[in-house]
Amino acid sequence: MLFIVATPIGNLGDITLRAIETLKKCGAIVCEDTRVTGNLLKQLTIEKKELISFHGHTTPEKVDAIIRRLERGENLALVSDAGTPGISDPGFALVSRARAHKIPMEVIPGPSAFLAALSASGLPIHTFVYFGFLPLKKGRKSLLASFKDEERTIVFYESVHRIERSLLEIAEALREQPSREIVIGRELTKMHEEIISTTVADLPAVAQAMMKKGEFVVIIGPKDGNANDLVSMPEL
Ligand code: SAM
Repeated sequence: MLFIVATPIGNLGDITLRAIETLKKCGAIVCEDTRVTGNLLKQLTIEKKELISFHGHTTPEKVDAIIRRLERGENLALVSDAGTPGISDPGFALVSRARAHKIPMEVIPGPSAFLAALSASGLPIHTFVYFGFLPLKKGRKSLLASFKDEERTIVFYESVHRIERSLLEIAEALREQPSREIVIGRELTKMHEEIISTTVADLPAVAQAMMKKGEFVVIIGPKDGNANDLVSMPEL
């Protein structure tokens, strides 16, 4: 069985009871950085166990070796460095291969940075589009230009190295919509958590002044900003 286990995005208190139970009972853990996961086990006082590193450069032979272990009946857990495996991290490749091999799986859901940011944003989130990390070169310009007409809330991840540049490029791409709403989530669930609400007009000043440390989620409200509309829920 492959257990897909979400882990905290910063605050250890966000680990779930099922995640702890699963990490305790599985034979080995497939993870991105063995130091990060080793440290998580230590903090949760879970005894040391085999950690199998799995990242963007893992060879197909290594993936096959993990699949063979699962086929032999081993219980393995898949975690990422933080949050939900497969959400903008390499877990997807293993889950996809395991599914093709009809390996039984169980998911242990938990935190994900974009969901935490969306739920705290105050922007309409009955429908949204998630872009992961924006492309660095190919397709970047056209993607940013397409945001102008996007009627859904947009959410994406950004690294500390590019946050200022990306925010300035968004301000430029959306300059004809100065009141369009922007929310930036920084260091969510951590000691220096910050959730900044602003507009396109104020974004250049915010981008320059804000603390450029840690991890970021950026949210752009929909084109015709209907943040205060009541969302009609279907009758159940
Ligand atoms: N699998 C993770 C998840 O479910 O959110 C995402 C992994 S991705 C490699 C890492 C990116 O997620 C960071 O660069 C940042 O953009 C975002 N992120 C992760 N933790 C965060 C946090 N505590 N606050 C803000 N953004 C965070």
